[in-house]
Amino acid sequence: MRGIGSGEDEGSAVSGRLGQALSNLPRSVRARILAWVLLLAAVGMAGAAGTAYVLERQRIDVRIEQALQQEVSEFAEFRRSAVDPRDGGQFTTLERMFEIALRRNVADHHQTLAAYLPTKTLSPVGGTLALHSDPAFRELVTGSRQATSGSYRPPDAGEIRYSTVPVQLGDARGTFVVVYFTAPERSELTEVFQIYSVVAVAALAVIALAGWLAAGRLLRPIRDVRQTAQQISQTDLVRRIVVHGNDDVSSLARTFNAMLDRLEEAFATQRRFLDEAGHELRTPITIVRGHLELMNPRDAEETEEVRELLLDELDRMSRSVEDLIVLAKAERPDFLRTDVVDIGRLTDVVLDKARALGDRSWRIDQRADAWVVADGQRLTQALVQLAENAVKFTRPSDQVTIGSSADGDTVRLWVRDSGPGIAPEDTERIFERFQRGHSVIRADGSGLGLAIVRAIVEAHGGSVEVESGPGRGANFVLRIPRVAVPAWTAPTEEVAL
Ligand code: ADP
Repeated sequence: MRGIGSGEDEGSAVSGRLGQALSNLPRSVRARILAWVLLLAAVGMAGAAGTAYVLERQRIDVRIEQALQQEVSEFAEFRRSAVDPRDGGQFTTLERMFEIALRRNVADHHQTLAAYLPTKTLSPVGGTLALHSDPAFRELVTGSRQATSGSYRPPDAGEIRYSTVPVQLGDARGTFVVVYFTAPERSELTEVFQIYSVVAVAALAVIALAGWLAAGRLLRPIRDVRQTAQQISQTDLVRRIVVHGNDDVSSLARTFNAMLDRLEEAFATQRRFLDEAGHELRTPITIVRGHLELMNPRDAEETEEVRELLLDELDRMSRSVEDLIVLAKAERPDFLRTDVVDIGRLTDVVLDKARALGDRSWRIDQRADAWVVADGQRLTQALVQLAENAVKFTRPSDQVTIGSSADGDTVRLWVRDSGPGIAPEDTERIFERFQRGHSVIRADGSGLGLAIVRAIVEAHGGSVEVESGPGRGANFVLRIPRVAVPAWTAPTEEVAL
């Protein structure tokens, strides 16, 4: 028992090691393509050869059968019509009839004829064979009174096919036998297929070589992609793959290059963002440090003053940091939490919130009656930011108007003020991060407010612009594509804004 068990263990260990070795073999796509090509070619060749072999063998068998039948029919014809050439009369003995039959009948290639009498066997001149003295074969062919046919394998030769014709003349009985040696014909076929096998192996070797070269050529762009990807680091995104041709693989290389373009742009934006943020935060830190260095801690009044100033500066810093966090989040896919938003109600909510920002003449000049799929809280944040700016750049007597409208596929939301307006050269620039305009009213700010507004609108797939001119006030307009409200949503639901 133990012996068997350990044998099995050894066997499974060997097959495990073999499996491991096979799985460790390098499996490049090139090698796999080649393996498949060779497998398919080998299966195709073997299938074609196998079918041809089977068909050809069947054809040989049919031909042998026909040849045997022909000899049998010729003998039957001879029996019916032939006369003894000695006297022109009927044959008197069976032996005489067989002799004449064997003399007249010349056996075809691979055939032999014989006549079996109870005491002896007759065969054509020069045709005496060991087969005729084989008692087993004699037994087989003379055993039946019916005409038979079948196959027999003599001890010293290949397989034969035979047909027998039992004959009776008076009391004498005998058997006329036609024999066909099948082995020579079949071995011819086997030889042909042996030559075919050698040619097929040579053809597979040629296919392997050609396939290896072709696969290598086709996969070269993929190798280039891999090598370029290996060489690329976060700091070096300038490399690109040289694209040749216009096939699937070269389109993969083109897609990879386009992805690198986007990555390079994203990294550049990120670096700019960090530079700007660092620069912007350095100023308040310098101010705080300067004041603390110069402050006389023993002077209570000065200390109080500096404390007030520094707290104010820290507030400003923390506002900037919060704004930067919002801008960083705007790059993320979960920045918006969309829901069905009632734009008319959103306009009212913004007005309510804006009133608390300052004493202005607040009003709504138009109110859309529309439902859209959007992030209501982010839209409110953007409009309140615009209202905050409007308050910063206007005086208490000035008017600030909030409004919304909707047409076929766009929703418009705006905040208009009657302040100093914006110079034409600033209307684009002010939406950039940390950019401030040249307003006649100097207002304190981080320069991030409009950048946040633009980030929110662009996350909705929309755009923001300002219609303004010096002394004409400013009208900030948000345009949001109107995403269809799904039919299953009940638009009566209250959404927190
Ligand atoms: P800030 O914190 O400087 O206000 P914003 O990004 O909110 O930063 O605004 C950028 C610039 O746009 C402001 O410095 C100002 O010059 C201009 N601006 C914004 N809103 C108005 C407005 N309602 N009227 C006039 N100028 C404005």
